[in-house]
Amino acid sequence: MKTTLHERFKIEDLTCDGKCQQRPLSQEVVDHYAALMKEKVKFPPVECVQDGEKTWVWDGFHRIAARKKCGHKNIAANVGLGSLKHAVFLSCGANATHGLRRSHGEVQYVVKKMLADSEMAKMSNKEIALHVGCSQQFVGRLRKGEEKPKDKTPTPEAPMEDGEGKKIPQKLAENWLLKSVVEKRIREVDGIKNSVENCDNDTYALLNKSGFKATILKIRDYFTNALFYAVCPQCKGKGCELCKGCGFINEATWRMVPKKSK
Ligand SMILES: [Zn+2]
Repeated sequence: MKTTLHERFKIEDLTCDGKCQQRPLSQEVVDHYAALMKEKVKFPPVECVQDGEKTWVWDGFHRIAARKKCGHKNIAANVGLGSLKHAVFLSCGANATHGLRRSHGEVQYVVKKMLADSEMAKMSNKEIALHVGCSQQFVGRLRKGEEKPKDKTPTPEAPMEDGEGKKIPQKLAENWLLKSVVEKRIREVDGIKNSVENCDNDTYALLNKSGFKATILKIRDYFTNALFYAVCPQCKGKGCELCKGCGFINEATWRMVPKKSK
């Protein structure tokens, strides 16, 4: 898909359709983003598709609301080609690994929505799982109607919390958002791995497949270990040796921290 980056896209030219929004707008998140924006925190561009008539936003509803709240008329946007239908599909994959993570109930809501769509339901469990960011088994269970509904409606986004559900100090919020960059790298690595493994012609005939797989899994591990997981319990985010000064530790380190220090 051809994508153009418009640094200054007029917010009024963007169409925020409810069908592309897979969870309710949380005023708390909007306020939080607006506060970060006032402190000149740079947010990633919102994602849109354009069908010649309208520009449909499929990722970034909270950022847009926060920009408006700050009185800005413009926002950075990545704009590809596509219809509202594409936007709905893409929105089902939004926030899979970046931004504010979806709760279990939200993931379930999105998968069910895809399964209820005659076209999207034709995708395999694996394809849907990759798109939404959940397990294939989870999609399979929902397809068979086995997964009992946890929430009737998607829950609003929680305020920024670390992997242990602890509120992230305001001054670390900007750094926490960087997590999404590493998450994006992981998705890219997964994309490379899958494209090689699922290739059904001779493109990779000469590739050392076992060596490749071992190496790419190792690269994935490196990135996974680079993911911020919890606010550093030793310095409470001020920066110390344990967190290498960034204020966060990864999940593996968190598990090694004695209980009484957490
Ligand atoms: Zn620390």
